[in-house]
Amino acid sequence: MRTIYLDNNATTQVAPEVLEDMLPYFHDYYGNPSSAHLFGGQVARKIREAGERVAALLGAMPEEIVFTSCGSESDNTAIMSALATERGKRHVVTSRVEHPAVKSLCAHLAGQGYRITEISVDGEGRLELEQYEKSLTSDTAIVSLMWANNETGVIFPVERAAEMARERGILFHTDAVQTGGKIPMDMSSSVIDMLSLSGHKLHAPKGVGVLYIRKGTKFSPFLIGGHQERGRRGGTENTASIIGLGKACELAKDRMEEENSRVKQLRDKLENGLCARVPNSRVNGDRSNRTPNTTNISFEFVEGEAILLMMDEFGICASSGSACTSGSLQPSHVLRAMGVPFTMAHGSIRFSLSVYNKEEEIDFVIEKVPPIIERLRELSPYGKAAGGKL
Ligand code: PLP
Repeated sequence: MRTIYLDNNATTQVAPEVLEDMLPYFHDYYGNPSSAHLFGGQVARKIREAGERVAALLGAMPEEIVFTSCGSESDNTAIMSALATERGKRHVVTSRVEHPAVKSLCAHLAGQGYRITEISVDGEGRLELEQYEKSLTSDTAIVSLMWANNETGVIFPVERAAEMARERGILFHTDAVQTGGKIPMDMSSSVIDMLSLSGHKLHAPKGVGVLYIRKGTKFSPFLIGGHQERGRRGGTENTASIIGLGKACELAKDRMEEENSRVKQLRDKLENGLCARVPNSRVNGDRSNRTPNTTNISFEFVEGEAILLMMDEFGICASSGSACTSGSLQPSHVLRAMGVPFTMAHGSIRFSLSVYNKEEEIDFVIEKVPPIIERLRELSPYGKAAGGKL
């Protein structure tokens, strides 16, 4: 059975060009980039090239790039660094819809006595900017706001939010894990202090990430060890993956146009096709300001998990907006923060595309999913109560 992979916000396929660039660094060029000999030096040169490629995607300088193990490490490092350098400040501002890499860390910090403010979003998943402005105080050590939401794709105005923080002398971090290669990001024209990326969301391997740190930003390392990454992260570099991530960023820059034209068209065709064929369905999130590859669709009166299982029988891979907590299905914190009604939130599915998707795959999904929803509604007591075949 063929796989139709529409779960690219969870992880992506490593691009063939990326794999090709990585392979020699497992076996042939295995030197330690910190070694004094030429054998290690040639690896160090490739790592520098990777830094230049990441910097080019971000409109940054190569020395502002630190390679980490993942997006979560980058997020944790940014926030913990600010708490260490902004001595005496005990307040962190974030949003209600962050990824657990930020949200759970903030909950942990709250347990240690830090004050956390989570800014609300409206029904379309847009940041409440006025509330944000009011939350900034002289005690705020850092703001951490995601650039694009992993569940809905909704984009936050982080450049504006960073300016508002800068005016008050507050550090600003953005989790751009879902934005890399999807929308332009230019650090040279923004005042964002720190930014996180993750390799496996943009066709590089799992286990490698980036923390961008603006030149001049006070910084305290999270991983203390050797002099690697200019003393900003100890530990021998994950050389092959870093080289792969560099290549992936180069490809992402070249393919941004395709993401925003062909991939976006496929995404729109998918959501319009499904919403037209399935009554009582709707798209969650601001349709006019989303990443081009993501759609989050609610099918009322059915369970997302059941839809996923039935789609799996056709090889269709996506994600649901509810997770099993203590034996019952709970809608995600993102959909709850948006106030999506329970009957809608339970049946929400996130489809996330990539440049590797083809139109025939989208046609196949548009053909297969409506009968799945119809069948589940016939089985569901809520669906029956609402008139069976809605
Ligand atoms: N931030 C966002 C918005 C994400 O979507 C993810 C992964 O899903 C992460 C952070 C964590 O990235 P990683 O899996 O590389 O730790």
